[in-house]
Amino acid sequence: MDQRGYEVLGPTIHDSAISYGPIHAIEDLPEGWTSEQGPGSYRLKRRTDGALFGYATGPKSLKNFLHPSEIKLFTAERTNGTFRILSNDGLAPRRAFLGVRACELAAAGVQDRVLIEDRFKDPIYSQRRAGSIVIAVNCSDPSSVCFCTSMGTGPRAKAGYDLALTEVIDGGTHEFLVEVGSETGADLLAGTEYSEASEELRRKSDEVTARAERSIQRQFENAGVAELLKENFDHPRWDDVASRCLACGNCTMVCPTCFCVTVEDMSDVTGDHAERWRKWDSCFALGFSYIHYGSVRLSTKSRYRQWLTHKLSYWHDQFGESGCVGCGRCIAWCPAGIDLTEEVAALRAAAPAEKTNGGGE
Ligand code: SF4
Ligand code: SF4
Repeated sequence: MDQRGYEVLGPTIHDSAISYGPIHAIEDLPEGWTSEQGPGSYRLKRRTDGALFGYATGPKSLKNFLHPSEIKLFTAERTNGTFRILSNDGLAPRRAFLGVRACELAAAGVQDRVLIEDRFKDPIYSQRRAGSIVIAVNCSDPSSVCFCTSMGTGPRAKAGYDLALTEVIDGGTHEFLVEVGSETGADLLAGTEYSEASEELRRKSDEVTARAERSIQRQFENAGVAELLKENFDHPRWDDVASRCLACGNCTMVCPTCFCVTVEDMSDVTGDHAERWRKWDSCFALGFSYIHYGSVRLSTKSRYRQWLTHKLSYWHDQFGESGCVGCGRCIAWCPAGIDLTEEVAALRAAAPAEKTNGGGE
């Protein structure tokens, strides 16, 4: 907890990954560690320098904290034959997030559009969002699954932060360039010791970003993808990917923009105590499309197609933007190593399938 009453969450090493955790001191940061990522693979690796933020995004994102995976909505207690509803409207936690990447800021913007700026405002998300401070750190070491440059979301944070840092390690010096993005950020900076950035530090900071941009190899052709997916509903590639996909839903869990939830009620054996919980759901779950005595999407093919087509195509129709920010998490954390950039490229490269708009399978 900092002096302002914010819990500070930032990069820590736990569960063999660099992921958000409580930060009490600089020693909690992953000094000298990086990650090596690929389709279906994530490994921690030692760096040769003492960088504190020299890694690419891990499995957790702001979504884990702003749109929690499970939360109790209310409790019902029966006393003397009467039920009392106790709503779970406790204060949302106040948190300062340190080390937020540009693609994550973009993902939070996508979730804002869905959970705050659409017809129905989610009070859980909006209260947590309002109680957050965001300290971004510009990426210096993207991983092989990153494709933020193709989606226009990174590697440098452009907006949506209170403060943005660039870590500059050069020879014997280890410095941070700080950019202020809000009044809260200016206020935070005023409480620290800092000096005016030199031209040289600004130039080096730009070099960090330029190097990061050059290191991103993965390309994704975003233009026209919404139409491509709509026009290839029955393409044979969907059978191909379905033969590899396990329908585990990992991709939706790690994706920082996926927002679907379900509601579960539970009661104890006495029938005097019941709770209603909201939990993340996934379009890969059979029950997700259960309506009127059956599920609409019975096959893995139809569920993978639903996920990809919603994310990259119908999201535009619903929310006016893509549901993908190019973070690459769904590639690294897919146990089958399924890579959405490869799947879309295969759809593009193959001869166009007969244009149909078939029903559920
Ligand atoms: S694409 Fe990968 S992560 Fe997603 S459901 Fe299929 S196997 Fe699981
Ligand atoms: S679809 Fe994959 S690459 Fe795109 S935002 Fe979600 S996890 Fe990241």
